[in-house]
Amino acid sequence: MIKVEGLVKHYGDKYAVNNISFTVGDREIVGFLGPNGAGKSTTMNILTGYLSATDGKVEIDGHDILEDTMAAKKSIGYLPEIPPLYPDMTVKEYLNFVYDLKECKLNRKKHLEEITNVTKIADVYNRVIKNLSRGYKQRVGIAQALVGNPKVIILDEPTIGLDPKQIVEVRNLIRTLGRDHTVILSTHILSEVQAVCDRLVIINKGKIVADKPTEEISQAVVTKCRLEAKICGPEKDVLYGIRSINGVTRCETVGSELDSVTYVIESEAGLDVRKPLFNLLAGKNWPLMGLTTMGMNLEDIFITLTIDPTKEKNNRRRITK
Ligand code: ADP
Ligand code: MG
Repeated sequence: MIKVEGLVKHYGDKYAVNNISFTVGDREIVGFLGPNGAGKSTTMNILTGYLSATDGKVEIDGHDILEDTMAAKKSIGYLPEIPPLYPDMTVKEYLNFVYDLKECKLNRKKHLEEITNVTKIADVYNRVIKNLSRGYKQRVGIAQALVGNPKVIILDEPTIGLDPKQIVEVRNLIRTLGRDHTVILSTHILSEVQAVCDRLVIINKGKIVADKPTEEISQAVVTKCRLEAKICGPEKDVLYGIRSINGVTRCETVGSELDSVTYVIESEAGLDVRKPLFNLLAGKNWPLMGLTTMGMNLEDIFITLTIDPTKEKNNRRRITK
């Protein structure tokens, strides 16, 4: 349904998007995940024809976005980062306005009624947009994207600024949309997309670092136990010692102070390496200055996902020699 090949966008000598390729199948819900500044909005603006790429090719439902712009655009409903709402219009006026703008051919009354029902905005239909809550405004933004019943729905950070209850509502709405549409949504929060998306494309600094089924990514994230340990002792020997502990999958230094070095230690699922760690340090007389268990943030996920396990083993072997 969507085919992106070698997409590049640079501003001066700065690459916002640097050679991105991916495909999205019919009725797939794909999460576009990455920290702020990763290139998500730039990519979405190019996919929807709002921004031209420096290089690369985008095809939407078989239509090239450059050669066949009108047809490609007709296949897409887009909710940009800042919803294109007209605050002084009522919801009804606004959706009718969008209907005309898109030259929609579907039965006006029936179509708009369906959209209002699915986005659950019927009770604010005659209210002026500027007086609506953030959650309702976001729903009106999504409703606008649905006008014309496009095959592809692209939503840029659809849950940003919403409260937890509204987030759950928008999430459910996106799930419903996925039954009849191909959906791409972007976010910088992993848990946002874990619940809704079939697949995650993770982007960092303009490049794709992972493109995998959500399940695989979730597993990579939750099956790791992580500790941060501050230890006094000779760094190389400490690293070697910790890496030799049964069940430790990764150990790196992340910082140092005058007399101690901080290490991040990852171990296999459900394996608590604190006892063997303590025994190791006590045996070697390396004082333990601090120990905390940690969750994974996006940066850690990138590291976990981009480390090639075969290379990792080789690295470890080289170090242990
Ligand atoms: P995201 O949506 O993932 O937060 P963006 O696509 O908005 O990221 O931005 C990607 C990078 O491109 C950022 O470093 C941003 O500063 C830069 N960028 C975006 N738009 C412009 C622009 N019009 N001019 C210069 N740099 C830009
Ligand atoms: Mg953005």
